[in-house]
Amino acid sequence: MNKVLLLDSTVRDGAQSVGISFSVQDKLKIARLLDNLRVDYIEAGNPGSNPKDMEFFELLRSHPLRHAKLTAFGSTRRKHIAVEDDANIRSLLAAGTECVTIFGKSWDIHVTEILRAELEENLRMIAETVAYLKASGKEVVYDAEHFFDGYKANPDYALQTLEAAVQGGADCLCLCDTNGGTFPDDVYEATRLVAARFPVAVGIHAHDDSGMAVANSIMALKAGAVHVQGTLAGFGERCGNANLATILANVQLKLGVACVPPDCLERLTHTVHEVAEISNISVHKNTPYVGGNAFSHKGGMHVDGVMKNTLTFEHVPPSSVGNTRRLLLSEVAGRSAILEKVRAFCPEIQKDSPEAAHIIDMVKQMEHQGYQFEGAESSFELEVRRMLGKRTKFFELLMLSVLDEQSLDGGKKPAYATIKVLVGDQLEITAAEGNGPVNAIDIALRKALEVFYPEIGEIRLTDYKVRVLDSESATAAKVRVLIESTDGSEYWTSVGVAVDVMQASCKALMDSIEYKLLISNAVPKQPAASAANA
Ligand SMILES: [Zn+2]
Repeated sequence: MNKVLLLDSTVRDGAQSVGISFSVQDKLKIARLLDNLRVDYIEAGNPGSNPKDMEFFELLRSHPLRHAKLTAFGSTRRKHIAVEDDANIRSLLAAGTECVTIFGKSWDIHVTEILRAELEENLRMIAETVAYLKASGKEVVYDAEHFFDGYKANPDYALQTLEAAVQGGADCLCLCDTNGGTFPDDVYEATRLVAARFPVAVGIHAHDDSGMAVANSIMALKAGAVHVQGTLAGFGERCGNANLATILANVQLKLGVACVPPDCLERLTHTVHEVAEISNISVHKNTPYVGGNAFSHKGGMHVDGVMKNTLTFEHVPPSSVGNTRRLLLSEVAGRSAILEKVRAFCPEIQKDSPEAAHIIDMVKQMEHQGYQFEGAESSFELEVRRMLGKRTKFFELLMLSVLDEQSLDGGKKPAYATIKVLVGDQLEITAAEGNGPVNAIDIALRKALEVFYPEIGEIRLTDYKVRVLDSESATAAKVRVLIESTDGSEYWTSVGVAVDVMQASCKALMDSIEYKLLISNAVPKQPAASAANA
């Protein structure tokens, strides 16, 4: 194995994922990200089936991809018509791509029961469609739909369908586990046989219904496949397609086959999160290589081990895929993890200094009150800075008042928040309306502070979690609010704990804003009104 070609189908197969609905702009953004990652093929939908897809191809024709081959996707010609008379095939050509993926039936029951065609006719449909596209100058990837199920049910026929594609001149036979039910040993055996029998490149397209999609893809590569299909973040029909990010990292770091330049692999984590963001789906924290927890260490023994030698609890260096190591802050993590965190923004802290002891005490105290800094490191940093006298006072909240009228007839009424903030020696009083009190506070805070700090406009809240803490000792139950924010390039989480959900939210919101100002090295601007007066 010295070369593996990657085909990403996020904007085609991935678009069939529950909860995903891409606009043309979304698809273009994803295609550019994949192109920058240097995947070899980017597959998009059938231009004939939907005008949105045709627009996508047209826009990419005027601003082509730099590296990847754009690939249009469609099926073999309809039964009993000439291939050149098939409107779908004509629109595939009209997409003007260098490469075309054509899927055809390999499983006899799909031919007889779904297409209601004769087995012989299906073979002609495959061979004629591939030949026609080849004669039109296209590179053709033939997707053998349901190949593994078809091979199990009727191996002779499944192989005849591949033979038909080879006769048509297909450049690649991509074996599909469309229903995702095949096991890796069966994928290995069948792929090995196909790779030995046909003189063309073999590929794999796996779905994850048995949790085997990545394993099946790797086994196919080991059996002689050289082309692998998936979706970067694993999005796709039902349980999803094979996760191409996991496959890429495995192939490059474990099998030693360079698919993309190392600096592209170092952008993998960022790219997966960007694609997920555009898709409006969050990446599971425990996703291999790129998830937020992929290199997080919590147990004291693990933290201690990693700090002595990272090999002890990490299979690859997190930086190789652009992820970062996180030592989680919690009582179980212990003193050394907490101080390691502090060192990231305060390198001079000494292990046995009184400041270190105070920080450890503070964490214990705050955890006892219900704070959880695990995954809320921005609030942790702000608290430690405050304790060490290193916190920049960007603003001060002087007053907050919320009016949340309850409608008696069950209808919806907006909530109002009024706040007074001090920035330097400037006072700003702002009121805002929101759908709910927390939303109103958020809008009011931003409105008041954006006057001084325009960078606040970049913050978006991506998650808001409220948890009621069971309190054995406290007189009233407390709530913990965790807020996840992003400015498009950084992600951070802040936390607030109080007996009142509004207070806890307000604390977490203020920490989120303050952290953004801290990482932006923000300096307050003069408000426009006073500048005009000056
Ligand atoms: Zn598929």
